[in-house]
Amino acid sequence: MGENLNLFTSTQHVINDALSKLGYTEEMYELLKEPIRMLTVRIPVRMDDGSIKVFTGYRAQHNDAVGPTKGGVRFHPEVDEEEVKALSMWMSLKCGIVDLPYGGGKGGIICDPRTMSFTELEKLSRGYVRAISQIVGPTKDIPAPDVYTNSQIMAWMMDEYSRLRENDSPGFITGKPIVLGGSQGREKATAQGVTICIDQAAKKRGIDIKGARVVIQGFGNAGSFLAKFMHDAGAKVIAISDAHGALHDPAGLDIDYLLDRRDSFGTVTTLFENTISNKELLELECDILVPAAISNQITEENVYDIKASIVVEAANGPTTFEATRILSERGILLVPDVLASAGGVTVSYFEWVQNNQGYYWTEEEVNEKLHAKLVEAFNNVYETSQNRRVNMRLAAYMVGARKMAEASRFRGWV
Ligand code: GLU
Repeated sequence: MGENLNLFTSTQHVINDALSKLGYTEEMYELLKEPIRMLTVRIPVRMDDGSIKVFTGYRAQHNDAVGPTKGGVRFHPEVDEEEVKALSMWMSLKCGIVDLPYGGGKGGIICDPRTMSFTELEKLSRGYVRAISQIVGPTKDIPAPDVYTNSQIMAWMMDEYSRLRENDSPGFITGKPIVLGGSQGREKATAQGVTICIDQAAKKRGIDIKGARVVIQGFGNAGSFLAKFMHDAGAKVIAISDAHGALHDPAGLDIDYLLDRRDSFGTVTTLFENTISNKELLELECDILVPAAISNQITEENVYDIKASIVVEAANGPTTFEATRILSERGILLVPDVLASAGGVTVSYFEWVQNNQGYYWTEEEVNEKLHAKLVEAFNNVYETSQNRRVNMRLAAYMVGARKMAEASRFRGWV
């Protein structure tokens, strides 16, 4: 029997473990093991060639005991219902870990934006908002960017929602362009959060960031900004990758050059002849390994070949639950996705607060507040892991689940 690579069922297992460690009954698990609401929609779009294509989309809302649900919308050919459900559960955990007044939500549309025109993408974005409009809103469920969605898509979605409601509603969605009520620092926020977690983890392990060897898998929003931050902090980014392959230079890569040459979907390795595979990248000798691409990258198969001292998960679900256990046994410090990638939703929360009050902060204020939230979250998770003698993932789930379980209990749901 192979290990469980199903993100939804493996997430359920860890939620179950976390709730029982926290002393909750089976009934609490019954409530939290699935989203409370899941909407499937079909969106007809007239394509540029005159034909009609009907797209399938989803919106999952995991638990809204703490407050409105919050989470991104991804546009990807491999979106599926179970993945959206698992991602909404992770959003609940992230919001709990950084202590935001939200539950988790997530949306997705099965499509390939790389092959669609600007007009087609606009129609699809607006169609999705019309289809889910009954269950979303600034005090119900607040979407945001995710894989292959960006501030332009958020702008179209905000405009569509505002027209439907006949009210300007910037607080309906986050990750907007600055001129439409976006927040300073939102675009870089996920990478900022990862950087803060790397700093904290390095301190625990006595590693100096200056001169540390860093390997980053993925060169999308999180991976590319992170490479820049690490490079600027004096670390040696010795390898990066995209979906096509990886670049490796033990002396450190020229990050500014690579950022300059990367396309809007994060592709850059196709410009080079000397590449290594993504598998080889994961097994490189380094101090800090950051999987910032896709799920199930560190598994039972390669976990013994990982040579990093610290693994920081910037992607969702890059390490399987079995591999998590083995990394922890091997003494490798793992900073789990629900903690390391929480910077994005944290600044989304700041964006929503600024929209609600109509008063906007400077980038310094945003970064200072983000730093305080993430350092506190890291320490809560680290201390829980030490005090309760559990691995960092289970500790993060315990910290993340506590607030929504308490809120559900106070509301009398369980
Ligand atoms: N999609 C991002 C995430 O997975 C951000 C969500 C948000 O900003 O609401 O954390």
